[in-house]
Amino acid sequence: MGRKKLLWHLFPFFLLVTLVTLVAVSWYSARSWRLFFLEQTAKDLETRAHLVEGRIGGQAALANGPWVDKLCKDLGKITATRLTVILPSGKVLGDTEEDPAKMDNHGDRPEFRQAIGGRVGMSTRFSYTMGHEQMYVAVPLKDQGRIIGVVRASLAMTAIGQALRVFYFKTILGGLAIALLVALLSFFISRRLSDPLENLKRGALRFAQGDLSRKLPIPQTDELASLAEVLNDMAAKLEDRINALIRQGQMQAAVLSSMIEGVLAIDAEQRLIALNRAGARLLGVDPQASLDQNIQEVVQDSGLRWFINRALVARDPIEEEVAISEGQRVLQAHGTSLRDASGTNIGVLIVLHDVTHLRQLEHLRRDFVANVSHELKTPITSIKGFVETLLTGALKEPENAENFLRIIAKQVDRLNEIIDDLLSLSRLEQDAERGRIFLTTQKIQGVLETAIQVCGPKAQAKGIAVHLVCPGDLRARVNAPLLEQALVNLVDNAIKYSEANREIRVEAERAGPEVVIRVKDQGSGIKPEHLPRLFERFYRVDSGRSRASGGTGLGLAIVKHIAQAHLGKVTVVSTPGQGSIFSLHLLPD
Ligand code: ADP
Repeated sequence: MGRKKLLWHLFPFFLLVTLVTLVAVSWYSARSWRLFFLEQTAKDLETRAHLVEGRIGGQAALANGPWVDKLCKDLGKITATRLTVILPSGKVLGDTEEDPAKMDNHGDRPEFRQAIGGRVGMSTRFSYTMGHEQMYVAVPLKDQGRIIGVVRASLAMTAIGQALRVFYFKTILGGLAIALLVALLSFFISRRLSDPLENLKRGALRFAQGDLSRKLPIPQTDELASLAEVLNDMAAKLEDRINALIRQGQMQAAVLSSMIEGVLAIDAEQRLIALNRAGARLLGVDPQASLDQNIQEVVQDSGLRWFINRALVARDPIEEEVAISEGQRVLQAHGTSLRDASGTNIGVLIVLHDVTHLRQLEHLRRDFVANVSHELKTPITSIKGFVETLLTGALKEPENAENFLRIIAKQVDRLNEIIDDLLSLSRLEQDAERGRIFLTTQKIQGVLETAIQVCGPKAQAKGIAVHLVCPGDLRARVNAPLLEQALVNLVDNAIKYSEANREIRVEAERAGPEVVIRVKDQGSGIKPEHLPRLFERFYRVDSGRSRASGGTGLGLAIVKHIAQAHLGKVTVVSTPGQGSIFSLHLLPD
């Protein structure tokens, strides 16, 4: 059955009850009124009959038939009533409507028979004289207590019916007016009852659509007011809970997106249901576009796909290192199955940690240890060899012994240099880490001059001239001892890797947002393939030449660290056979 509004339940019911009552009351009152009207008419006819009775007076008047007839005709016209005088024999003496001589004997008429018996006679029946239904009331005509005839008054029922019809018409008209009024009133009452409910329904719908901030108005009716209050209370609690959930969700999203680890949540149907920014970056996909996609399509790397598939079926958490991007990246992958409250497996959570840098550092550290050992091993082996030679007798040959000791001393110097450079490097790293390298804005010309002076003897020995071009007022933010050390290393290299009698230029200038110090030489130059690794520890283009010229392989690594401590950098441009330009980029004042 179709659902109807409350209004259409209430209104027809009210209307039906009212109409039934109205019809019943109208029918009952019409019936009562008709009886009352007929009674009144009968009484009226009786009075009129008595009027004729009074006018006739006694037996004597009855002897004058024509007079009686005329009386009936005159009074009948005045009272608009048919009056008839009948003798005890049934013979009609006078009549308002007819000639008595033509009328038949009325001795058999019921009203006549009652009246002749001394009572008031009454009858409603068809009149053959009149040709329609009549109401008859007959009274006995007495003279000194003796019944000498009957006076009958009658009225056509059509006249009574007409009067009643007028009454019925007015009653129906009034009833219709009342029904209309009642219909309107019923409608308004039904509306008054259903409107607050309608308002509550609209408010509840608003709540259902998520608008919980607008409260429901409280209706006047006690029960509805309680309902509205309960709904408002429920909405307030719901709003609090939703807000708490939103906050919680936002917090989780913030935590997820700010995580360095990549996080992927996959459901049991292998659909990606959550992916944070780091995860999307590691997989090289768009986080929004990948959501709800099959994980086999999202993850391109076969190694990682294999790990995820294993995690999807594993009962316990699994952890593994997975190399992706053709081995260029190493991920520490962790997979844990997701379970709902009842413990059913609903998917898997994968956490990816990019350990590429860590692995590179480990690699570097291993290389560094190997390099240091190798660097130290060469002079130590040499020293050990000469010491053993001396001990096995060479000590007794003064000429050889002195020669051997000189070599030993040289190797010790070399060891010393390597250890000095290693110590400088580690001190630099530690100081930079602890923020103990202080920079001050100062003129740099003096620092450059000192560095060149330090290298002076070596330069002179090779007949190399070192020129300085630096504006006297050029200022930069520097740590003077470190900058001097970096320049000494660069100028020392320029001397080492240049033929005799060449020229070296140290130029400093302000270039845009930085101060650049260039060390230009006309030396051997460096092939392009060596340039990317040139600033690594112990990296040498030509190990033999480097060692022969007393190089430790750490000079440029130190320069790089010093540049970084100055929040700058070191770059190199080189043409093999023509020379190199090493540039230190520093911050101006
Ligand atoms: P080393 O102590 O061997 O000089 P560095 O770290 O100072 O170590 O330099 C690394 C390598 O870079 C050197 O072995 C050398 O081959 C190359 N190199 C450095 N400076 C120059 C330069 N001015 N000209 C040519 N090669 C250079």
